[in-house]
Amino acid sequence: MTKEYVVNSKRSEFEKKALLKLSQAGKAGKDVFEYIVLNSVKIDFKWTLYAGAVWDDEENAVHLNMDPDKTDPESPWVLNLIAHEATHLQGAPPGH
Ligand SMILES: [Zn+2]
Repeated sequence: MTKEYVVNSKRSEFEKKALLKLSQAGKAGKDVFEYIVLNSVKIDFKWTLYAGAVWDDEENAVHLNMDPDKTDPESPWVLNLIAHEATHLQGAPPGH
């Protein structure tokens, strides 16, 4: 998938920034970028108890437990959370 595809998509500005940054984060980041874009995984915000982020199979989404107005989409912490939750959408077992 290309960066242009993401830039021209209907994704939020937050998603676009996070995805473009992921695409530049080495092989691991690029793999996550490909998975999320190819599978149209949504990245959004939702309050969650006890977790920085969660994945949702039914919604095909990663929910960040953060304040959207105060969260930097390019921060390594945020990108790591997105990448981690995406591994669950790809079938990694829950429990961590
Ligand atoms: Zn986990």
